[in-house]
Amino acid sequence: MKVNPDQCPLCGQGTLEQLTLMDVWGCQKCRHLFEWNINKQMLKVVDLSPAILWRWNGRFWQRGQNSLLPLTPGLVIGAIALATLPSLLLGIANYIFPPLPGSPFSWFPIVWQGLALVIHGACMGWVMAEAYQFSPYLRFKIWLRRQFSA
Ligand SMILES: [Zn+2]
Repeated sequence: MKVNPDQCPLCGQGTLEQLTLMDVWGCQKCRHLFEWNINKQMLKVVDLSPAILWRWNGRFWQRGQNSLLPLTPGLVIGAIALATLPSLLLGIANYIFPPLPGSPFSWFPIVWQGLALVIHGACMGWVMAEAYQFSPYLRFKIWLRRQFSA
């Protein structure tokens, strides 16, 4: 796969264009801003915190060292725990204090537990995707922007 040096390494779809009267470059697809050090062949996204760095290796942008916290197994386990713990607590409460048999809202604890799992999982997934700028998430954001701009 041939990659041009002006192709956005963050979303992989847009091209980088220098903004008028500025030392930054912008991607027209994901709309992030980049600082391009041509002498060092390095690209740094400046509107994300922590910034992400890439180095041009002659064929493609290679993600370099940055201050982004590495995605370790401990971090993944912590995120899964934060997403599942509320649902687990609701399940324990439902087990200890089960609804009366035949009561009209006996289905409610199970639905509440499922909703807690889905919503907390979605929140953790969104936080992780925003922090690590996963490529499928960026493509989804671009697709979403296209749907609403048309
Ligand atoms: Zn882009």
